[in-house]
Amino acid sequence: MEQVNYGSGNNPDPQPGKADLLLALTRRCNLNCRYCFIDRRRKPADLPRKTLKLALKLLFSSSKKALSLQLFGGEPALAPALVFDAVAISRRMEAETGKRLEISLTTNLLGWSDAALRFLAKERVGILASLDGDEAAQTWRSGINLPKRDFIRMLAAARRLKRLGCRLRLNMVVAPEKVRRLHKNFIFLKTLGLGEIQAAYALAPGWTANRRLQFLKQLLKAKASGLRQDWEIEPVLTHPQIFCDCDGVVSVGCAAVLETSAPALAESFKMGNLGNFSSLDDLAGSRREQETKISRLAAQRALPRFIPEVIALGNAAKSVLGRGKVS
Ligand code: SF4
Repeated sequence: MEQVNYGSGNNPDPQPGKADLLLALTRRCNLNCRYCFIDRRRKPADLPRKTLKLALKLLFSSSKKALSLQLFGGEPALAPALVFDAVAISRRMEAETGKRLEISLTTNLLGWSDAALRFLAKERVGILASLDGDEAAQTWRSGINLPKRDFIRMLAAARRLKRLGCRLRLNMVVAPEKVRRLHKNFIFLKTLGLGEIQAAYALAPGWTANRRLQFLKQLLKAKASGLRQDWEIEPVLTHPQIFCDCDGVVSVGCAAVLETSAPALAESFKMGNLGNFSSLDDLAGSRREQETKISRLAAQRALPRFIPEVIALGNAAKSVLGRGKVS
């Protein structure tokens, strides 16, 4: 592999805190989740290798000592060569720069070979597994006729990762239509004993005031049953997450899963191409700036109604789970 210039990442006086990059490896997926609004027709479908290197170079250009790389999709299992490259190149950059790199990967657990799972474990890749609950929940969410054997494969992959010593966290997405099953699904996942569970709400229409209340009540029930979660990231839509898409376009704020349902929002988060930035630090945004972008779009009536609804939901979850009661 060729030498890469890491820009200000070679700074001998690294800054405290952690720099974070969410990187889409592919737009392809083997599911078609009801609450996923990624535009599958956009090209390129996969992150080109040259763009991957530029994205990693941008991450390592940060003046921060601690870095976090979150590999995302689509479903990364459909692009295993890109996963191997992303992990191998970034681990090499970690060794060369002396930085501390944490890698995580979001997956629906379907389509991995055993060799790939062993690779992820060996390279200390943390896994965020998208599992919404029992077979009925997973089948409903998947948007395709999910055969029982696929659900069994998902659980088998999660168990294998756990046996291999992977850091595994389950991401349980709650759709508004299924909010009353949140606690039941949490208990199902907890009983599997696979790892920590986090609850997330679907960024989708349907969060009426009644469902919002149900969500909060169910969360409190889950909390009483052992749900442990940091809600500081909420509302996720105003979190200034730095995101690089397969086409090399960098955004502050991640609206990738809302491309087709809130296209103006996804556009407003875009900052430019990878090549435009000499340091990841230049992209550091604030929640206030994200809120301003969203308010501007709302004033122009360019946002679907569910966007303020899910922001209100995130704020309510953050506030109520902190206070411990539903008002
Ligand atoms: S939410 Fe994830 S698993 Fe579901 S279709 Fe979208 S990319 Fe695929």
